Amino acid sequence: MTDLTGAAALSIDVEDWFHSENVKAVVPRDSWDGCVSRVARNTERMLEILAKRNTPATFFVLGWVAERFPHLVPAIAAAGHEVASHGYGHELVYRMTPEAFAADIDRSRKLLEDQSGRTVLGYRAPCFSITDWAVDLLQEAGYAYDSSMVPALAHDRYGRLDAVDGRQPIIRLREGFDEVCVSCLQVGSRGLPWGGGGYFRLAPYALWLRGVAAIRRSGQPYVFYIHPWEIDPDHPVPPGMSAVNRFRQRVGLNRCEDRFAAIAGDFEWSTIESLIDRWRGAEAAPEAPPSVIAAQTNERRS
Ligand SMILES: [Zn+2]
Repeated sequence: MTDLTGAAALSIDVEDWFHSENVKAVVPRDSWDGCVSRVARNTERMLEILAKRNTPATFFVLGWVAERFPHLVPAIAAAGHEVASHGYGHELVYRMTPEAFAADIDRSRKLLEDQSGRTVLGYRAPCFSITDWAVDLLQEAGYAYDSSMVPALAHDRYGRLDAVDGRQPIIRLREGFDEVCVSCLQVGSRGLPWGGGGYFRLAPYALWLRGVAAIRRSGQPYVFYIHPWEIDPDHPVPPGMSAVNRFRQRVGLNRCEDRFAAIAGDFEWSTIESLIDRWRGAEAAPEAPPSVIAAQTNERRS
């Protein structure tokens, strides 16, 4: 296995503000089409920020979004980023039946492959709600990796995988199927979520970087995630949100675009696909044009 010291993968979960688990209780699914959408504008802004810094990323795109904004996935792919799947309808995995989950991941994968013209290898569960039975179905559907584990102390929404012990950032779950964990900072015997989210928006940036440096010093890759709605402090605040959910959704939004722009330029990032290639010791090709990456990807999967 390759030494991953210094490796870092940047990922973006492309969904609208009303898909967030924080607002789900007050914005029912059947009202989504009536909500003011801001995902296209925010994703385009992120693409500009990444382009200025020549930074590649993995975009886990929600099928619901790809279907309504069909220009987004081609724009992401044309910019050389990896297109991966965030499922179709943003249901928590452990609340779905296996049949419903299989249909959800199949629908999103086909849609994203049609729009990008490339094989979709990766999946990230809504709110990191992965389960062991879902991994089998992901592999059957043609996915090659999952990135839905935050090996942290207990969280009220996150899922679990039995094989994850918190010390291995990338794990071979099955032959031909890997888990890429979102980073945690080891504090004593516990992992603190240090891969993004409210912690990223709340902590002083210098402190955040010190945590990232500690993760990288330990020989682990750094795996970061963010949502387009996090760089948009003007997205709507629906009435009726609980104080806790309002805090989780809104904390630090005002400074998050600047912070995202800073972190996008502060490290040498790769896609998650390239990170796995490096981990396997295979020859990663981050400088290759997208067509070459796609050809290699197809070759590896055939
Ligand atoms: Zn999500």
